[in-house]
Amino acid sequence: MTNKYFSGVLLPIAVGVAMTVSQPGAAQQSTALSSASDTLTKIQSLSTEADTTSFNWQETFPSWFEHMEPFRLAGSGDTEIYYVGTKGLGMFFIPTTEGHIVIDGGMPGQGQLIAENIKKLGFDAKDVRILLNTHAHIDHSGGLAELKSLTGAQLIASEGDRWALESGLIPGSEDVSYVQSPPVTVDRVIVDGEKVIIGNLTMTARITPGHTQGCTSWTTTLQPTASAPPQEVLFFCSASVAANSLVNPPQYPGIVEDYHKTFALTADWEPEVFLANHGEFFDLVARHDRLSNGEASAFHDRESFQRFRTKMKDMFEQALIAQSEEAKISAHSKEH
Ligand SMILES: [Zn+2]
Repeated sequence: MTNKYFSGVLLPIAVGVAMTVSQPGAAQQSTALSSASDTLTKIQSLSTEADTTSFNWQETFPSWFEHMEPFRLAGSGDTEIYYVGTKGLGMFFIPTTEGHIVIDGGMPGQGQLIAENIKKLGFDAKDVRILLNTHAHIDHSGGLAELKSLTGAQLIASEGDRWALESGLIPGSEDVSYVQSPPVTVDRVIVDGEKVIIGNLTMTARITPGHTQGCTSWTTTLQPTASAPPQEVLFFCSASVAANSLVNPPQYPGIVEDYHKTFALTADWEPEVFLANHGEFFDLVARHDRLSNGEASAFHDRESFQRFRTKMKDMFEQALIAQSEEAKISAHSKEH
């Protein structure tokens, strides 16, 4: 069965959020909110108008394919976090003395790009031992199978996204061919709060469902100096509605409750460094420029996650109202 949203286009929300995430200040906040609703309108028209047979990801989302030199984004000494993605798709590399971690695989074909970026940074991709995934959508899981064969690493993911990763399909939209990913085997399933430990690095899984059923955010900590308090780093999964059907029928049973759960769980999160799988979500390009200009803590911003979460929550609430209204109208038109 194909739902009406996925039948058009999968993830344009990433682009919409770009306009709204990085603006501080009250005046700009209201601009951000109105452009958020414009974005939803755009998404809905895209999802009914897109020609699915000739759909071209690169034309629709050029930034996902736009080159970015890999660089050290935060951390020093024992824990360093490197960016190995494109301008639009966030992929991360964390080396340890016992082997390395990569978070997310990008689009199909981008596994190779990640491996090349790791090499450019002076590491061997064959030393990657663990692959983590934020969620099973083609723009974050499409390159995992390739990256797995290039590195020999094991893939660790949530039970909620396991079927989607292993089948390459989107639950509720199984027959939409252009959103299908190369299937990849999950080697270890984690639950909420479970830790993945390698060398001196601990990554903690937080299940933040809604965007997908097993949407997984990951956290770790930086230790700036031996005596300083540890600083939390968040790799957030997403909480956008994107092409998800919330009602009539839901993308998967319980999706609305899952979004509510995620917004409640994250209400007091204030990570020192907020990162995500789309560059726009955490203002990648501007922060990268600041870092290049000598601002070592350009990615440190304890307010940035809550700014983002508030926008996601508002957009979710608007989408729920809009989709519920639409469902009422279509039910009514069937009666007459
Ligand atoms: Zn997604």
